[in-house]
Amino acid sequence: MRRVLILGGTAEARALAAELAGRGVRVVSSLAGRVTNPRLPVGEVREGGFGGADGLAAWLRAEGVDAVVDATHPFAARMSASAAEAAERTGVPLLILRRPGWREEPGDSWRRVPDLVRAAELLGPHDRVFLTTGRRSLPVFAGVPGAWFLARSVDPPEPPVPAGVQVILSRGPYTVEGELALIREHRLDVLVTKDSGGSMTAAKLVAARRSGVRVIMVDRPAPPPGVRCVEGVPAAADWAQG
Ligand code: NAP
Repeated sequence: MRRVLILGGTAEARALAAELAGRGVRVVSSLAGRVTNPRLPVGEVREGGFGGADGLAAWLRAEGVDAVVDATHPFAARMSASAAEAAERTGVPLLILRRPGWREEPGDSWRRVPDLVRAAELLGPHDRVFLTTGRRSLPVFAGVPGAWFLARSVDPPEPPVPAGVQVILSRGPYTVEGELALIREHRLDVLVTKDSGGSMTAAKLVAARRSGVRVIMVDRPAPPPGVRCVEGVPAAADWAQG
């Protein structure tokens, strides 16, 4: 029976696991193991890092994996780089499943930046910032004098939380009404977000458009060169089924 490793941690990875299991493929999903209470895919699950490309290559050989789908978050660049290297070394075929990025629409006012540091540089002392770039990004923004941040993350950031930062813990999906209420309640005027794409967390972009909040959009890192990339679960399932 064909055995497929899905590098996961995303809604697309869970959908792919369900689709392949339904098609009779033996799937093992891998999670980084950093989120408490992760949403689990159907089928076999393993958790924790492999130990870089070397560790993943050894794991692929030991487990007799026939194909790997890298369905990690578009910003999980280290895992994607390890997967590309391990696949090349072992000859195990690799596909990247990566949801499309968000696109600016009429009425939007986005500034695209290459990384978090550049995003922080664009903030001013009176900005009230909706920060959705992940709990580990807080130190990058701690040095912006005078700005105030509402930082939303799934799990709490490592203490100490920098001054001028209020943390709210929650996990999507979010609604436009809910995001508008947050913007009003905290008088937010800037949204800093990564271009994660997908529908689960897109409501903040609609709310920003409707309330005139300017958006600083951190671009995705490029996928590893030479690896085939698809955007949808059905295409990934067809490839993985073999
Ligand atoms: P990362 O920086 O690329 O990964 C750091 C290390 O964590 C990797 O080198 C690997 O350790 C381990 N790792 C990451 N994903 C793994 C997986 N699916 N299975 C086993 N080990 C994994 O990634 P990250 O940004 O920390 O993201 C971690 C996980 O959270 C990813 O699986 C991703 O899909 C999910 N996620 C990330 C974001 C985000 O904004 N970055 C958002 C939502 C969900 P070893 O080198 O030891 O193998």
